[in-house]
Amino acid sequence: MRGMVHQAGPESNFCDAGPPRVHSPPMKRVIAVANQKGGVGKTTTAVNLAASLAATKRRVMLLDLDPQGNATMGSGVDKSQLQSSSVDVLLGDVEIGAALVRVDPGGFDLLPANQDLTAAEVRLLTMMAGRETKLRNAVAPLRESYDVILIDCPPALNMLTVNSLVAADSVLIPMQCEYYALEGLSALVGTIEQIRSAANESLEIEGILRTMFDPRNNLANEVSAQLIMHFGDKVFRTIIPRNIRLAEAPSFGKPVLFHDRESRGALAYLALAGEMIRREEEEQQQMATQPAAPGDEGAEAADESGNAEVVPNSL
Ligand code: ADP
Ligand code: MG
Repeated sequence: MRGMVHQAGPESNFCDAGPPRVHSPPMKRVIAVANQKGGVGKTTTAVNLAASLAATKRRVMLLDLDPQGNATMGSGVDKSQLQSSSVDVLLGDVEIGAALVRVDPGGFDLLPANQDLTAAEVRLLTMMAGRETKLRNAVAPLRESYDVILIDCPPALNMLTVNSLVAADSVLIPMQCEYYALEGLSALVGTIEQIRSAANESLEIEGILRTMFDPRNNLANEVSAQLIMHFGDKVFRTIIPRNIRLAEAPSFGKPVLFHDRESRGALAYLALAGEMIRREEEEQQQMATQPAAPGDEGAEAADESGNAEVVPNSL
């Protein structure tokens, strides 16, 4: 499976991976990595979380929805040589399965992007109806074939980000603990509220991730404390430190796990994957122990998926 290089649909990924899994791991399926501010670690998080979740044997898809194509390049795929990409899938010209590229090393499937995606943004803006649901509809045929689908959003609250939030179950917000960070966060939370009431009422905040963190910086510690005061448990306990290996891995076209697996950056993203999996398991267990209402089959489903794998210690 790891040896596959190109245009890999999910069928081809798991037909040779042994018997089908009985217990699906408890994870939110579609997670948008979003923050309208640039340079906060969205792409770094999307690529490295994809690789870390894939390392726990989850089937992972990464959607590059940024015309800059940084997640594409960071996954080792040349954005100038794409046969089909996000723009074709978003506009309904190509089935998503046909545009996926297998990322190796990485262990996940990528929907790549390049600057052509800017044209999709413009086309979407001029559409009269259904322009917010294009991505959700495009992803639908493969939604169940993956344990988790991550979307790397552009640094703007534009139609591409709106499409991502409408397609998503939850939003993961990377942020740097800086002076203006909280202000930007309230704009994003406002957008999430709007999307919830207009188009996707079950959209949740997956968590707020502190990135490029330097514990020697007093302001960073202050902003971090304020974040926890406002958002409590929604702030991931895992903190991503500033780490040179994370910054240089994209120039090798690899997730950091395959660049320097012992680095603090690699370990931090593995820890994040572990935290997300544990959180989900706890939620599922809570649901399973709550008495089910008559006719409610949710408890049984939660029971079934309680048996998920967690991050292997050996990594
Ligand atoms: P965004 O996608 O939000 O614009 P990126 O993930 O591209 O942000 O990160 C911006 C820059 O910071 C990139 O050059 C990236 O390599 C670097 N970077 C991101 N996270 C870290 C980190 N934890 N430590 C060091 N450099 C980082
Ligand atoms: Mg980016």
